[in-house]
Amino acid sequence: MKRIGLLAVIAGLGASAVVGAPSMGTPVKKVCGDGLTLRISSSTAAQGNLLTVEVSGAKGNQEIAAEWDGRSIPLWRETPASATLHSLLAVDLEKPPGKYEWKLSWAGPDGNPVVCSQAITVRAGKFSTERLSVENQYVQPDPEQQKRAEADQKKMRAIYDTVTPEVFWKGKFELPLKGVTKGSNFGRRRVLNGEARSPHTGVDFPAAAGTPVYAAQAGKVALAENLYYSGNTVVIDHGYGIYTLYAHLSEIDVHAGDAVEGAAVIGKVGATGRVTGPHLHWGLTIDHARVNALQIVQRRP
Ligand SMILES: [Zn+2]
Repeated sequence: MKRIGLLAVIAGLGASAVVGAPSMGTPVKKVCGDGLTLRISSSTAAQGNLLTVEVSGAKGNQEIAAEWDGRSIPLWRETPASATLHSLLAVDLEKPPGKYEWKLSWAGPDGNPVVCSQAITVRAGKFSTERLSVENQYVQPDPEQQKRAEADQKKMRAIYDTVTPEVFWKGKFELPLKGVTKGSNFGRRRVLNGEARSPHTGVDFPAAAGTPVYAAQAGKVALAENLYYSGNTVVIDHGYGIYTLYAHLSEIDVHAGDAVEGAAVIGKVGATGRVTGPHLHWGLTIDHARVNALQIVQRRP
């Protein structure tokens, strides 16, 4: 019943709602040797986009490592003995356009390392600029507020530095609100009270204060507390470096460390932190890259 409803919601996502829709580049299929084949959903991606990666032909317990632009990236199997490994290639919304390498490496039959790599072209995203007026304390925080914001940032960095080697999700990711299908503002460059600030890293959904907010997938609550800019905030660890964030809540209904099921109520829509009114801010961070959360409901990780 619930699943049917959510599928309808996903099907109802018009193209206009999908800010920074998946790139339409050419899918990559590369024969890597030792029986391994690398598939990437596209050879190009715009800033803030998500590509899927599949490596087939692996031996049951074969160890294969992946890197994206020099950074180690997790690969996972859906069942322990599966010959297929999966990964997500996430392009941060501020990654400078250019060519970057996605690289696989493993030990060959003689024990020497073997490498198979693919260049991925990152294109500039098309992000508009918005000018907003917010309470001045959120543009020019006093020293104490500044200290708090920095401590929040440190805490978030420690969370995103943690890769839990476990698949907590089951099937597709789903939207965090029921009946609200249009999210916007991802990647927008922002001018707040006349001053340039960092880009908008999430998707904003309009909703009345008190509307229930659902976990986009099963996972473990990594953070559930009030932060200076994002107000009452929940971060869920879905495993293998995939995190969703829910901000500006009026109420938080979970605790850090809780295991949550997909579509569990985690809080209510509110207007806490730096906002112009009640809405849900939904973020997706994968391997430290801030990407458009709407894209994960369109694909299976
Ligand atoms: Zn927002």
